[in-house]
Amino acid sequence: MVLPNFEYMAPKTLGEACNLLAELGKGAMVMAGATDLIPPMKDRVIKPEYLIDIKRIPDLDYLEFESTEGLKIGALTTLRSIETSPIVKENNPAVAHAAKVVASTQIRAKGTMVGNICNASPSCDTAPILLVQGAKILVQGPNKDRCISIDDFFVGIKKTSLESGEVVTGIIIPPLGENEKAAYIKHAVRKAMDLAIIGVAARLRIEKGICTDAKIALGAVAITPIRAPRAEEILIGKKLTEEVIAEASVAAMNSCNPISDIRASAEYRKDMIRVFTKRAIKQAMEG
Ligand SMILES: Cc1cc2nc3c(=O)[nH]c(=O)nc-3n(C[C@H](O)[C@H](O)[C@H](O)COP(=O)(O)OP(=O)(O)OC[C@H]3O[C@@H](n4cnc5c(N)ncnc54)[C@H](O)[C@@H]3O)c2cc1C
Repeated sequence: MVLPNFEYMAPKTLGEACNLLAELGKGAMVMAGATDLIPPMKDRVIKPEYLIDIKRIPDLDYLEFESTEGLKIGALTTLRSIETSPIVKENNPAVAHAAKVVASTQIRAKGTMVGNICNASPSCDTAPILLVQGAKILVQGPNKDRCISIDDFFVGIKKTSLESGEVVTGIIIPPLGENEKAAYIKHAVRKAMDLAIIGVAARLRIEKGICTDAKIALGAVAITPIRAPRAEEILIGKKLTEEVIAEASVAAMNSCNPISDIRASAEYRKDMIRVFTKRAIKQAMEG
């Protein structure tokens, strides 16, 4: 299937990109790796009149770690760079893992983590790990820049809280504290090139044998990736015994409202949330 007609624009500055997006309105879309854009354009599911390619804008491809601020990931940093980066593997291995389980090596060599979250698919693999780690989304608009908490970023299926003319410039993932560990587990039929049936991320702080903080996030079981606050409450302040983990996993299962589709039934998804929450908690405990 050939692509429909569209106008290609490649601004050289962020200001130019924001102004173009604001002027051209809903017919214009930002293009990074284009891995999420091209297939639905070919299928005529989306028909942008203008693609604003941001790849010629300098300084958007970066990957840094600072002990106070954490991991900084640019809008043009590919999933493959994140997955293979010694900086990420050393300081936040769960983020490297979440990048690694997306699609295939070829797709990850083009696709970005920023594009992954801006596409805002409920099954997007990098969202749960960003949710449990309190990531901040850096945004540049035509008149101002701002920072959106990942908790406020996803607002619906393929919908984010970005406003007209806004471009995401990067993601900041705060550093894991002492005694904190995180994990993301994707459940899919095939190991590569398969969207998640469900995904679960966990971040735990364990001090003197007691869980003093917990964050659980779920993918592919609601219209957006979500947190599971009741499951978190059950874990906090307790020793993480089999019984406590099982109780939290049931709470996570009860907090989601999945659909049935070609990948799995709603009932199966719910049960897998129970199973994989248990596994994600244990994996985070072990680091
Ligand atoms: C065969 C195949 C398999 C896949 N498997 C998986 C999978 O297993 N798991 C998974 O999570 N994803 C999967 N994907 C989806 C995809 O690869 C990712 O979502 C990818 O990370 C998107 O990044 P990109 O740079 O290509 O974004 P693009 O395609 O360029 O853009 C995606 C969306 O984000 C917007 N956007 C991009 N950058 C910005 C920005 N800086 N500011 C504002 N808006 C922006 C675009 O306008 C568009 O709406 C798969 C895709 C394909 C084609």
